[in-house]
Amino acid sequence: MLVKILIFVSVIFLIYIFFFKNKRKVEIQKHKEEKKTLEGDTMVECAQCATFITDKDAIIKDGQFFCSKECARLL
Ligand SMILES: [Zn+2]
Repeated sequence: MLVKILIFVSVIFLIYIFFFKNKRKVEIQKHKEEKKTLEGDTMVECAQCATFITDKDAIIKDGQFFCSKECARLL
């Protein structure tokens, strides 16, 4: 009887671990994707001409974002 209970408990435990691990994996994946899209699509405003550009294309000068080298030189 005790062995049966032990087996039952370990099966429940294994199922719990399995689902918990899967949930964690999905959450980590979700978090990664969110971070990725956030990094890819962050829009910043040019400090000179107020044009919106992605932070990848932006030129950072003195802590401010600029859309082009021309704008960065103007300030
Ligand atoms: Zn500009």
